[in-house]
Amino acid sequence: MKRLPEALRRRLHNAWRRWSLWALLAALLVVLLGTLVWLAGRYEMSQLQNRLESDAAAAVLDIRGALARNAQSLQALQPVPGRATPREAWEADAQALLRERREWVRIEWRDPALALLAHADTPYQPPLFERTGRDNAHSDIALACATARRFGGPAYAPSYFVAQPDGRGLEVMELCLPLMQARGPTGYLLATYSLQDMLANLTSTPLRRSAELSFVEPDGTRLALHGNAPRGRRVFTAQQLLDLPGNSLMLRINSVRSAPDLFPNVLTALVTAMSIALVTVLVQLVRDNRRRLRAERGLADALAFRKAMEDSLVTGLRARDLQGRTTYVNPAFCQMVGFSAAELLSPQAPAPYWPPELADDYAQRQAVRLAGHAPPRDGFESVFMRKDGSRFPVLIIEAPLIDAQGVQTGWMSAVLDISEQRRVEELSRASQERLQATARLATVGEMASLLSHELNQPLAAISSYATGSMNLLRDGAPPAADLAMAIRRIAEQAERAGKVIRSVHDLVRRRDQAREAVAPQALLDAILPLVNLQARKLQVQVCIAVDDGLGTVWCERTMIEQVLLNLARNGMQAMDGIATGERVLWLGVRRAPASESRARAPDWLEFSVADAGRGIAPEVARQLFTPFFTTRDEGMGLGLSLCRTVVEQHGGHLGFEPHAPRGTIFRFTLPARPMTPPAAATTD
Ligand code: ADP
Repeated sequence: MKRLPEALRRRLHNAWRRWSLWALLAALLVVLLGTLVWLAGRYEMSQLQNRLESDAAAAVLDIRGALARNAQSLQALQPVPGRATPREAWEADAQALLRERREWVRIEWRDPALALLAHADTPYQPPLFERTGRDNAHSDIALACATARRFGGPAYAPSYFVAQPDGRGLEVMELCLPLMQARGPTGYLLATYSLQDMLANLTSTPLRRSAELSFVEPDGTRLALHGNAPRGRRVFTAQQLLDLPGNSLMLRINSVRSAPDLFPNVLTALVTAMSIALVTVLVQLVRDNRRRLRAERGLADALAFRKAMEDSLVTGLRARDLQGRTTYVNPAFCQMVGFSAAELLSPQAPAPYWPPELADDYAQRQAVRLAGHAPPRDGFESVFMRKDGSRFPVLIIEAPLIDAQGVQTGWMSAVLDISEQRRVEELSRASQERLQATARLATVGEMASLLSHELNQPLAAISSYATGSMNLLRDGAPPAADLAMAIRRIAEQAERAGKVIRSVHDLVRRRDQAREAVAPQALLDAILPLVNLQARKLQVQVCIAVDDGLGTVWCERTMIEQVLLNLARNGMQAMDGIATGERVLWLGVRRAPASESRARAPDWLEFSVADAGRGIAPEVARQLFTPFFTTRDEGMGLGLSLCRTVVEQHGGHLGFEPHAPRGTIFRFTLPARPMTPPAAATTD
């Protein structure tokens, strides 16, 4: 009872360990694959980011270059020193320049005190400062121009917002270019940049198409924007500082990933494909493992089932290999011989259960077996020895042990302890013998009156011969011849009486039970005195017909004699009430007809006992062979059942049929010549 939970616990523990290992492997794989995919994605993102950073740097360089060129173009508007430049001419030049440079919204010419001398507005949009005026930018412009004067080159003012009448506005930045002379600046040229147009005109076309460009303040406030706000989850941003004399601007580029999110590039696609393949393999492995576990469990169940079956067997099982070594014994075999499995499986020779006196024979016979001679299919008997030294008979049934490849690897034997069977057989034989003896005695008892009647005649004859002889002697010298004759008669009668007694004695006496070859005639001769005894009393005529050249039968003589006697007696009793002249009993022996001879025996003789009695009614026929069934008051009802037992013990068959024109004929068969003697112990 305690072993089951223990086994269950161990099984559960093993299953848990196996599954936890699989789970750990799966988790590790998932983490590994996740990391790989993440790293691949990150690598790809960093590549995109780097590209964007370099795009931003290039864009800043472009803008810077364009600004420098613009400053040079502005320089060209510088009035020629010493010559008065007509205002209209300057404005015309400025207008021409504004047409070329869309990023400029206005150009002004101012005197050294920054008073406006002339100006021109871009033709591409309404004049910017018409409504707001220029005053609120004055300080920034003054600062920028001071810086420009100090550097002797262009300087920029911080950008500012100019509202437009339509509600929109523009972020603009002033460029101040001093008109330098040896004495100092003679004035300033101011160009107003629209930051949005700078983005639209000073950057490269591909960049403008693919990204959103903007100028932002360091705190992130957007000043100007070009392009559409990119949509999508993955927005990449790069910022680059555009450092100008007097002002700094931050250029920001926003770009979306061009490729779709899933499988963004070859590396990620490869890693993802490998991950899917790995997960598939893992799933297959888990499935395979599950299948294997199921098969393993099925196998274990089948093994447990077989073990339970073998353990419950009362038949001993023993397997031997082709070298004669015992390779397997079941518990029943161990119990039978009293040795443990370890003792039986040790490769010692001879086997511990071989009786020492038979070991040589067994070894020799085992060698014959191993040479490939198959044992009889229905088994053979042998004798084994228990551990305590006692011998016991066994029945061994052997079959070749064939492996999965169809090759014989040894012999499998089923061993049955038949000592109990033997004991029962012995008991039954003894009781059978006792029963037969009783039946014989009963027969004799029945014949006691017949005997006394039969003995009366010789005894009376002896008595009268003796009386006659005495009378002769008393009358004087009797003739020697008469006396001799009387004495011979006395001797004859005494002999006759002796025969009668001996015939009864022979029947009752317990004779040797061994089977022997007996001539059929001898069997009839043995019972004839007793049959005649009864026949005379019942006035039955006895006819005997024995065919010539029948040879002998192989039987237990006493038994068969009693069978014949029983049948003859039954036949004579059945003729009670029949007319005296018609009472005939036929005793016959002949060779059994071919149809009745068995295939396994070469030749059979048939004994028949026929009467001309009243026959057997069907209701009697049904119970004829039932022990203790009788229709006679003084009958025991054992005769026919014993007869059949005896005949069948000899391998023969007892039957009956109506006898024409009247009566019954009983027939039984016996083997005609010695059958093969019962097989002795052949091998272990
Ligand atoms: P028992 O002779 O002691 O009665 P049996 O077993 O010899 O016992 O016979 C059983 C019965 O079978 C007899 O009582 C008789 O009725 C019937 N029987 C046996 N032999 C014959 C026969 N030859 N003819 C008619 N009946 C028979």
